[in-house]
Amino acid sequence: MQPHLSHLFADDLGAMALPWTAEEPTAPRLLVLNTSLAADLGLHAEWLAGPDGVALLTGQRLPDGAAPVAQAYSGHQFGGFSPRLGDGRALLLGELSTPLGLRDLHLKGSGRTPFSRGGDGRAVVGPMLRELLIGEAMHAQGIATTRALAVVATGTVVQREQPMPGAVLARIAASHLRVGSFQFARATGDGDLLRALADHALERHYPALAESAQPYLALYRQVIAAQAGLIAAWMGAGFIHGVMNTDNMTISGESIDYGPCAYLEGYRPDAVFSSIDDAGRYAYGNQPAVGQWNLARFGEALLPLLADDETAAIEAATDALAGFSTHYRNAWVGVMRAKLGLDATAPTDVVAALAEEHLALLASAGADWTQSWRSLAAAARGDAEPWRGRLLDLAQADSWLERWRAASPDPELIEATNPLYVPRNHLADAALRAAEAGDLAPFERLLAAVREPFTERPGLADLSEPGSAEFAAGFRTF
Ligand code: AMP
Ligand code: MG
Ligand code: MG
Repeated sequence: MQPHLSHLFADDLGAMALPWTAEEPTAPRLLVLNTSLAADLGLHAEWLAGPDGVALLTGQRLPDGAAPVAQAYSGHQFGGFSPRLGDGRALLLGELSTPLGLRDLHLKGSGRTPFSRGGDGRAVVGPMLRELLIGEAMHAQGIATTRALAVVATGTVVQREQPMPGAVLARIAASHLRVGSFQFARATGDGDLLRALADHALERHYPALAESAQPYLALYRQVIAAQAGLIAAWMGAGFIHGVMNTDNMTISGESIDYGPCAYLEGYRPDAVFSSIDDAGRYAYGNQPAVGQWNLARFGEALLPLLADDETAAIEAATDALAGFSTHYRNAWVGVMRAKLGLDATAPTDVVAALAEEHLALLASAGADWTQSWRSLAAAARGDAEPWRGRLLDLAQADSWLERWRAASPDPELIEATNPLYVPRNHLADAALRAAEAGDLAPFERLLAAVREPFTERPGLADLSEPGSAEFAAGFRTF
């Protein structure tokens, strides 16, 4: 039942992999097991929930031959470069061969490592449950994401502002290669390491590109497209990542590190919730520009691989990076087309104009993002009142409605694209507070709702409502 764990990253990239072991939990107790993910991975949920499984999920009893490592990476954090970040409270246990392909099994909160600096290497129950919840919501909405396989309470008391219950998150990812991984390899000055990392990334994520004339430039272009698509999906979901540092942007294009993230309620393009993002660098509306900035840093790291002389390499990277805008725009129009319920026959410029005007209507009223989009379904069926009722400029709204209806929106597509249930900030907050106090029921209820986000169910009406104005005014993420 013990799954096999390979150590391809550690083998290929020893200079970026520090052999390390997880801290022993005081009294481990499984809080949540992601049984549907376990099934997708071909893992046995019953075994995972048992003592041997929990020992694996906390890094205590690993299969023979496993070689857990702390991964080294660098990163631009809020614009400033940190050459040595790395897994300060995390470990790569190894790679699983699964029906989905190779997947990293990774722990977060597994104790101090040589990358911990001043940190204690630990994680606490609330934020780890939050990471599980958001990942499941993203996945259910079809957005590329890392996912939590389990959250185990460690029984260890973790000192934060107050003493908090400790936890370990077991995370599944297509890989944990980040833009910051490449920055680390580049900063070592070791060209062979950089090439080995790029080859590893190609083999792992984009094997077909290895055959192309310029595989590393092809890799760069592919990552640009993947991240542009991801950010467009976030924008459609009303999702604010909150900490788009280069160490939190993956080469696979999966979302990672749901720390200070949040969801839009009343729509404001400049919405920011993170307590440490005073300047609004990672505000909702800045995400595409920040994504491109991060990809410029990725291009800089790749330069030695892109051409023999630096001028040619810079030219190639600049040209590739210029493609971001087109990739992003195309992806965004695709997201908006579906949200508006329009099919492929609606011309791109019509879709883009309708989307932009709709955003302006929502912004001027501060209308609830999730409910407003969802209420377009009724509007497409002939009852525009639920939608109109959220807006202020009704003359503009009616003019928009007429043009949108002329494009033949499909209410079923609207309902299949615009969720009713998302992990709204106030709901997640209340559920995590209860969980920290020992009651998992509200968390499980919210989790079940966001896992099937498009289907309205009786008894869940409260989970589609925005929080109070007082809550929104005081809400900060950490
Ligand atoms: P993040 O902001 O979560 O992406 O983390 C940025 C860096 O801080 C990474 O190198 C983490 O490993 C490290 N880090 C975050 N929390 C802790 C902690 N409690 N102990 C040690 N390192 C940490
Ligand atoms: Mg991180
Ligand atoms: Mg984090």
